Amino acid sequence: MHYNVKEVEAKWQKRWQQHPMVTKPTGSGKKYYCLDMFPYPSGSGLHVGHWRGYVLSDVYARIKLLEGYNVLHPMGWDAFGLPAENDAIKKGIHPQISTAANIAFFKKQLIEVAAIYDWSKEINTTDPEYYKWTQWIFLQMYKAGLAYEAVAPINWCPSCLTGLANEEVVQGNCERCGTQVLERNVRQWILRITQYAEKLLEGLDRLDWPEKVKRMQRNWIGKSEGLVFSAPVKDSDIIIQTFSHHFESFAADTFITIAPDHPLLSQLLDEVHNKNEIMQFCDDLIQKRAQKKYDTNANEVEGIFTGRFAIDPVSGREMPIWVASFVIAAYGTGIVRCSAHDERDFAFAKKYNIPLKVVLVPEDPTKRALVENFDLCYTDMEQGILLEPTPFAGKKASSVRQEIIQYCQEKGYAVAQTQYKLRDWIFSRQRYWGEPIPLIHCQRCGVVPVPEDQLPVELPHVQSYQPTGTGESPLAGIESWVNTTCPTCGGPARRETNTMPQWAGSCWYFLRYPNPHLKDKPFDAADMQYWLPVDLYVGGIEHAILHLLYARFYTKVLFDLGYLPFDEPFKQLFNQGMVCRYSEKSGLVEKMSKSKGNVVNPDDIVKSYGSDALRMYILFMGPPELDCEWQDAGLDGVKRFLNRFWDYMVKEGTILPEGQQEIEKVTRRTHALIQELQERLDNFKTNTVISSFMQWLNDATEHSMQLSRTSAEMVLVALSVVAPHIASELLEALLEKQLLSCTWPKFDPALLKSYEAKVTIQVNGKMRAIITLPIGTLQDEVEKHARQEIAKWLVGHEVVKIIFVQDKLLNFVIK
Ligand SMILES: [Zn+2]
Ligand SMILES: [Zn+2]
Repeated sequence: MHYNVKEVEAKWQKRWQQHPMVTKPTGSGKKYYCLDMFPYPSGSGLHVGHWRGYVLSDVYARIKLLEGYNVLHPMGWDAFGLPAENDAIKKGIHPQISTAANIAFFKKQLIEVAAIYDWSKEINTTDPEYYKWTQWIFLQMYKAGLAYEAVAPINWCPSCLTGLANEEVVQGNCERCGTQVLERNVRQWILRITQYAEKLLEGLDRLDWPEKVKRMQRNWIGKSEGLVFSAPVKDSDIIIQTFSHHFESFAADTFITIAPDHPLLSQLLDEVHNKNEIMQFCDDLIQKRAQKKYDTNANEVEGIFTGRFAIDPVSGREMPIWVASFVIAAYGTGIVRCSAHDERDFAFAKKYNIPLKVVLVPEDPTKRALVENFDLCYTDMEQGILLEPTPFAGKKASSVRQEIIQYCQEKGYAVAQTQYKLRDWIFSRQRYWGEPIPLIHCQRCGVVPVPEDQLPVELPHVQSYQPTGTGESPLAGIESWVNTTCPTCGGPARRETNTMPQWAGSCWYFLRYPNPHLKDKPFDAADMQYWLPVDLYVGGIEHAILHLLYARFYTKVLFDLGYLPFDEPFKQLFNQGMVCRYSEKSGLVEKMSKSKGNVVNPDDIVKSYGSDALRMYILFMGPPELDCEWQDAGLDGVKRFLNRFWDYMVKEGTILPEGQQEIEKVTRRTHALIQELQERLDNFKTNTVISSFMQWLNDATEHSMQLSRTSAEMVLVALSVVAPHIASELLEALLEKQLLSCTWPKFDPALLKSYEAKVTIQVNGKMRAIITLPIGTLQDEVEKHARQEIAKWLVGHEVVKIIFVQDKLLNFVIK
């Protein structure tokens, strides 16, 4: 029986398509919801990076299925977005048509991954039946006061006359024409995600997610405790407020800076003789800033004195108020107390000869002298020692943070306040290929939601996708669509022409999968109770912040509105690393991309090596959470293994006839394999799972192990989660079994106890360690463990010889 990869894989793929995997209905026993981050169906198709995530999640979905769980492992399409729209502009192909073609291509490619997707659950975010509910959720948010209209800046290309998404801005320039991008204010819809800052932080503590991702989310939300100081402006009744996060050195503050576009500025400059000159200077600053002309890394600062002074509540002294290029009106209060203990403040004061004061010093006396002489800016709030105010003199700044908050409040200098870096979410795009925002503008009634029974607001077919040049979406140009009647008063009204951002559809798709064809609601309560939250979510680290934050935000809102019985959508998260490859163009090992010419097309690999080989290699190439390098040689190794495995299993005598026992050593070896696999799988060490199989096969061939039908089934079922085609074929051909009638193998711990050997590790005959390993472990494996265990005895020595007695001893002879 020869291993014909093509024939075997074609046979099983056909069979799986004829008898597709179908999830059992809600409530059928214990469940497992295993989810991939759904792809954007781009024109270039699947790449091996997609495979890395999909194969990984499929391994776990398959194990749970074999363990008897009711498994939901769906797939769908995050299909709104810019590339389809840009294609439409360039080639005149309607995005719906190009998207449908891309999806068909992806689906064909996905068959080769051989994942157990339930295609009856497929979702497409651009399907009106789906985005009807994306719009419905927006309306619930709007009605709950979580969506508001405001003028906010967008990236604007003055040459293409269009708004650009952030990803279309490359180093400050328009991706298409290279013109420098400006900021332009446009009417937008904004979601109040900041209202959920605290809940988004708190929820992270309850999740089984990589620490790195939790840290990234925490930093993005950016909670900080600070003090708000109030200072009256001399000769006026204006009181200015400043927020300080690094308030430990507050006694050093000697001047105040205000943003050039601060709304208070004009009032502050009343009665200042050169007001016009200052306002002109500010306009120039704003222009320069919008064109991103400042090198913030080099502490490039610029400003102008307002002619006004504030009275410092701390010292009672006058503090000059300056306009400064680096102060942002929207951050904090837009006004900042400045001191010698901030790099930019320091640079600014030096440039304009503003007096400084030192209250924080390093322990090192040489460095301290430099700081006290204003030759060095010292900012270390962790290690620095305070000189003032008196109660804290001589203490480490970081050790008295809480006491300083107390002190400043008691003295009446300031009040404590918590701030977040998180901004509200600009939720509109001036684009065609997105979900229309379901609102209507009526001159008499104002903004009116589209009645729910009129959803979806479908995207109209258009002839031209060109942006209008006014900053409005192309929808604004379709009079027949824009003009409508007001649902409240029946008068003439206009539809909202902004569309939702590409994130909208992916914020809730995991709620739709259990029943994607539900007509009268977005999801069913019983489904939510049973299937959600998602048990395992697998996807790339590039979504660590925005997608996951937005999806968590949506879930929390729907929970608060009473639609969901849980407030965190993804229990466990796994981020697979990227697949990199040597690029001849750059001479570096880099992330695969077309422009670098280092892309591997999975279809080609499948053609020459087969799906099983690619699945195994993708798992084998490195720890799944790390970026790793694609090497063709590794693929050859896997292919060799599969050939050897096949040859061994089909060899006359390998599998004993029904009813005939195998020798105990063989049983133990098989259980040891299962134990090792389980441990490695539980810890997401899928790369080492393949080595377990290789090791087992080495032992099996070396000792010509004869397997009982039970042992053979255990090995084949275990292998099926990584190489389903070959495993299914051998199960059927050799054991007359179908994979789905088998169960995931369990090892017997009692059997393994008597199976362990204590191997003495020596160096030049001296005992250095005893390690416990399965009986019959071969020299290579023992040596690997031993070298780790006694590494310090080998450092700086050359191993000239190794003496090995199986199950007893390994002696390194060194010189
Ligand atoms: Zn442009
Ligand atoms: Zn009206």
